Amino acid sequence: MFELKPEYPYLYETHFHTYESSRCGQSAAADMVDACKAAGYTGIFVTDHHWGGNTRADRSLPWEEWVDGFCTGYYAAKKRGDEIGLDVFFGWESGFLGTEFLIYGLSPEWMKQHPELRSAIPFGNAPEIEDPMTPEKQYPLIHEAGGMVIHAHPYREEPYIPEIRLFPDYVDGVETINATHSSPVSKSHNNPEYNVRAWAYAKEHDFPVTAGSDIHSTNLFMGGMAFKRKLESSQDFINAVLNREEYILTDGVNWYDQQGNIID
Ligand SMILES: [Zn+2]
Ligand SMILES: [Zn+2]
Repeated sequence: MFELKPEYPYLYETHFHTYESSRCGQSAAADMVDACKAAGYTGIFVTDHHWGGNTRADRSLPWEEWVDGFCTGYYAAKKRGDEIGLDVFFGWESGFLGTEFLIYGLSPEWMKQHPELRSAIPFGNAPEIEDPMTPEKQYPLIHEAGGMVIHAHPYREEPYIPEIRLFPDYVDGVETINATHSSPVSKSHNNPEYNVRAWAYAKEHDFPVTAGSDIHSTNLFMGGMAFKRKLESSQDFINAVLNREEYILTDGVNWYDQQGNIID
């Protein structure tokens, strides 16, 4: 049985995909929210696959309608979270030819005002796009708006990721624990070495670190980050990460400090 550390009672899932908005999503957002609440999470960040990733919304829609479609999973999660008392925050996972980033701190309304996000080259297909959105262009765009860019699972190896590409000048931090890699209940991407390498990368650059499960169903891996206090908002989360406030990280099996040491 997974247990919280009493000094860090507020656990957050930071990497969460829904059936409604991610093509690889397997469970409805509301059911996943119920599962997270029952499992002891205080909150979640919904991070569905965006334009350049395995998104579900129809890319032929006009931008604002596409954003509404993209946010379906978030809205369903938020509605259910409000009903049962789980904090639900908005984020997304951007994709650039297989390299992925978790974006926190911005809103669906902000997204509607930034149709240039649509020039990310779609997952699984590389049509000629003039002046595409790239990780180098994404970073200042997200930053100027007050958001945070985290490199998701930087060392995962899969056919959908043609090569490992690192962008140390264009991220705020690194997802050092992706519980999909290490959880005994995960059925994909199973190689804990991917997390070991991510920790080494974060140390090399002295990056702030995050942890999440990358869940796609109600089969939870119990990854995440635990804080001493309740987070007020996405911005509060960003500040806590960037300021390296006291928090601990988990892959659902062990607890880790921000240097990657296992805590008893
Ligand atoms: Zn996915
Ligand atoms: Zn993901």
